[in-house]
Amino acid sequence: MTTAPAAAVAFDGRSVVFAGADVCREAGFTLPQGTGRPVFEDDVWDFTDVVGLPVQLPLCTRRFDFTEITDERWRLVGKELVLAMLAPRHSAVAPLPRAHRTALHLRSCAGHLDELIRFCRWLSEQGVSSLAQIDTRICDAYMAHRRYILDEHDAVVGENSPGTRRRAAQVVVDLVNYRELFTADRVPADLRPWGGATASAIAEMPSGRTENKTQPVDNAVMQPMLAAALFLMSSLGPHAVELARQIRETDKLSTRKAPGLRAVHVAPVPEFTELLNEYRDTCTPLPMLADHHVADRLANGWSADDPLLAVATGVLARQAGITQFETRWMRHLRGPLENAVASVGVKEVFARDAADITTADTSSVLPWTKPLHRMQAVALVGIVRTAAMIVLAAASGMRASELMELRIGCRRLEEPVPGLTRYRLASKVVKGQPLGGTDDEWVVIEPVYRAVELAEDLHDDRQEGALLFGRFAFSVRYKWFRNWVNSPAGRRIGLAPIPDGQVNLRRLRRTLALEMAYRPGGVLASKLHLKHIAVATTEGYASRPGGAQAELLAEVNKHESDRNLALVLGEFRNYQEGILPAGPGARSLTEFFAGIDAQLDAASAAAPKTQRNDRDVLNLLTKRANVLHLGAANYCWFTDPSRALCLKLAGTPTADRPLIGMCDSARCPQATHHPGHRPVWAEHADRTKIFLGQLGATRKTERTRLQADFDRAIRVVAEIDAAGATMDEESS
Ligand code: SF4
Repeated sequence: MTTAPAAAVAFDGRSVVFAGADVCREAGFTLPQGTGRPVFEDDVWDFTDVVGLPVQLPLCTRRFDFTEITDERWRLVGKELVLAMLAPRHSAVAPLPRAHRTALHLRSCAGHLDELIRFCRWLSEQGVSSLAQIDTRICDAYMAHRRYILDEHDAVVGENSPGTRRRAAQVVVDLVNYRELFTADRVPADLRPWGGATASAIAEMPSGRTENKTQPVDNAVMQPMLAAALFLMSSLGPHAVELARQIRETDKLSTRKAPGLRAVHVAPVPEFTELLNEYRDTCTPLPMLADHHVADRLANGWSADDPLLAVATGVLARQAGITQFETRWMRHLRGPLENAVASVGVKEVFARDAADITTADTSSVLPWTKPLHRMQAVALVGIVRTAAMIVLAAASGMRASELMELRIGCRRLEEPVPGLTRYRLASKVVKGQPLGGTDDEWVVIEPVYRAVELAEDLHDDRQEGALLFGRFAFSVRYKWFRNWVNSPAGRRIGLAPIPDGQVNLRRLRRTLALEMAYRPGGVLASKLHLKHIAVATTEGYASRPGGAQAELLAEVNKHESDRNLALVLGEFRNYQEGILPAGPGARSLTEFFAGIDAQLDAASAAAPKTQRNDRDVLNLLTKRANVLHLGAANYCWFTDPSRALCLKLAGTPTADRPLIGMCDSARCPQATHHPGHRPVWAEHADRTKIFLGQLGATRKTERTRLQADFDRAIRVVAEIDAAGATMDEESS
């Protein structure tokens, strides 16, 4: 190990351990051939071209600028610290007992450097000139400085987040942990700030102790947002693709650098006359200027009554083959231009003859958009692209880093069995993976597949392998999307307004996780689909009771209980309305409901002032709700494992949960069918009937099986109908 006491070495600006080091080589980064490689002595380390950096990593995080540390000794400390974090196996770093054992990500190193720059600046402001002067009092003062938010009178008005506090504590802890490595300046050897506690403990990080802090998206926001996004995708998507193509074509022709244009010095009267005749012959309105250009003209002295005020003369010049329209030509061209305006008028350039669509509320049929200026057209294409992103993120649950790694051509379509299509997306898992990420695939539903297809069609430079979205700020895009949906443009096509409420990619992912976890076996499915297994392993959650998985499970169980209680209450109310359950377990459930009803009547008779509100009923129903399990087409009241048909069939009669995947609800005494299940059975009957009709005469075994299936479905539908009608008849 090549370290030396700071005081013993005359400081010449060079590091004892890293002098002349190739930073990328030490950190194990690969650079393309011919790219400049930062060396340790450089004051700016540029990692922009490092191979395999995630798309999500902002450009500013790829450049480490040490010049922001003005003191040269501390700047050297900063460089040594960052390189030690990037190269933990370096022979001078590995022996340090409290150094990181795995290389930190560039983003993390950038965060450490930011905080070190802030700390050095603060030390200078406090009159501290050497790290050797740092003591526990200074450490506490810095923590207080970063913890509390003060007003102009230095009164505490708030606190920064635990994350900020942890960064503040970490910078001091780092200076202690890597002390022996620093050439020019070091903290005292006996400094043990905060009794040697970890930065997370010092910052009182709540991680793992409370509920997952990312909340799901509120349903009142989620529903109209998804409805608007799906409508924009399906109804406006194809038109937006054509609009995007027109914008690209027009941009190519409208630019002053378009090939074939020439500069002229005299008024091009013949060219304009020919062009304007063409407009008149085809009854095409002249191109209109955008509002801000019209405002410029008014500010330059144009009259508000000038008929040429809104005419895009520059665009006309390019169409006539001329680079630019000169104002001095106006006295020669005003006459022909005014005649043309009087004859064909002026109109926005894009979406002049927009196709009709049925509005989202199906109340009318109207053009999909009003005519648009270029900027408006670009914005509308962007809104449709955001709609595709929303559907993709909400229904796939992919992280921001994974969405940004999507490339054109990432869609995979397969048909494992005839008639069953499986949609997949290929991307990369970045979180917790080595540099470059790990290739992976996501099984998705069709709307997600279509969303990616639309995004590909809207791409400005559609080439196989190009980034589909690149780096994007979802929160900003969502804000624009919501503003548009809530604007007159959104109302015009019948979209319901989206209320206020936070929406970001993490919340969408959380929402999907909870939705999936509700399903039978859903917790496992959501962990697999959201790639939680790898992340949990990486973060050590698996072995931490009370960690993220346990929190998720506890939360899911709580939601599940609430939902079960609501379902039981709903069925109890149905019972009171005369809508009875059907199925083998119907009698038992009806008797239970009758018992509850009797108890409530008795209670109200004995205490006339007691109100029979939902709370009383819920208390009585809770026990039953605890044994409710949801099947695809039935409720399972798992009161007695020995009566469970699925467990008998599986040979596990003592299991404590039903095997809902093996449920035969038409025969099990614990199953009930309700009106909500009727559509599932009716659809099953319809499909089976179609299959029966398609079977050849020779397929007798298959026919017998399908016929039994069909008869059972019809019987269940009839029972549900009969149960719903029973009490009606009795009461009438
Ligand atoms: S067969 Fe169906 S209803 Fe019966 S116990 Fe199993 S899952 Fe529940």
